[in-house]
Amino acid sequence: MASEAQTTQNEKKFVMAIDVGVTNVKVGLVGTDGQIEHFATHATPLEKGVAGVANALVNTSRGVLSEAAININELAAVGCCVPGDVNPEDGIITASAAPGWEGLDVRTPMEKSFGRPVTVEGDGEAATLTFYNFGPTRGQDHLLGISIGTAITCGFITDGKILRGAGASALMAGHMPLFLDGRPCSCGRTGCWEAHAGGGALRKLLAEYQEAGYKLPGLPEELAELAQAGEETSLKIWEEQGRVLGQGIAVLLDVLNPKTVVLGGGYAQSWSLFKKSLIKTARQMALTRNSEAAIVCAPNPEKAPLLGAAVAAIQAQGIDGFFNEPDDKQAQQGIDGGT
Ligand SMILES: [Zn+2]
Repeated sequence: MASEAQTTQNEKKFVMAIDVGVTNVKVGLVGTDGQIEHFATHATPLEKGVAGVANALVNTSRGVLSEAAININELAAVGCCVPGDVNPEDGIITASAAPGWEGLDVRTPMEKSFGRPVTVEGDGEAATLTFYNFGPTRGQDHLLGISIGTAITCGFITDGKILRGAGASALMAGHMPLFLDGRPCSCGRTGCWEAHAGGGALRKLLAEYQEAGYKLPGLPEELAELAQAGEETSLKIWEEQGRVLGQGIAVLLDVLNPKTVVLGGGYAQSWSLFKKSLIKTARQMALTRNSEAAIVCAPNPEKAPLLGAAVAAIQAQGIDGFFNEPDDKQAQQGIDGGT
């Protein structure tokens, strides 16, 4: 019986990964080659509270399984990442960008719905697990991953392990208070890094431009299109966003002394528009000895947290050898250092 169970486990070719962001819920099946298949996304119904968000993620997941014609018990594992930090022991959110999510047990309701173990990880840590396990930064120690979506979350790998902190809420870097008398933040304070940089901050800034009579769009991705077409005000806004992001990264360079900084998250898809000012600012503001770290954008940055949720599940649930060893060509593709 034991060998039969083992064979069945080895035949399981997919992990279901769920990325619950402040803006969207994303679900995909991650294969042994690290590719995401049967991807689906749904707007996060934050206004419906935690139960509404839980429903959305369970329904989106069931839709993915149905489309792939696969039963949940045929999956190797299920992993989920959430905005903020999670205690990996009990699945409780220790700190979050989503209002009211701190202290929530997100694991138990999911395990009840799916009828099997679910690993829950912070999205910054999940993205960092992706950078550590795939692509050109694979296996690299002193690796700082920054996931920029609506919020900014981070993970740091040192001695092969994620830095967690005493209460599993280390590196809430989005809430570094960088600006005196700065903008209000989702955490209830003012002047946090993510209140000035990242997707949520840019949306607010664009609303202010619109109120002031500028003919600018309301969404970062629309502003990116405009900037790609050479529109001057939007190019300047992206340049400024790069500077503010670079300011926070300079602090992290001095505090953590990473070898490499990798950017992921949906916002990083516009990397070409802000990389120059980001890298310049980070290098200028950090101490000289810490300013030489490589600062790069991940391949497929928007999928990094989702893929990392699968990696976290495989690791936490002790499934050795699930992912294939990448070939050299695969390992080198797609990175953009911007310099
Ligand atoms: Zn804050």
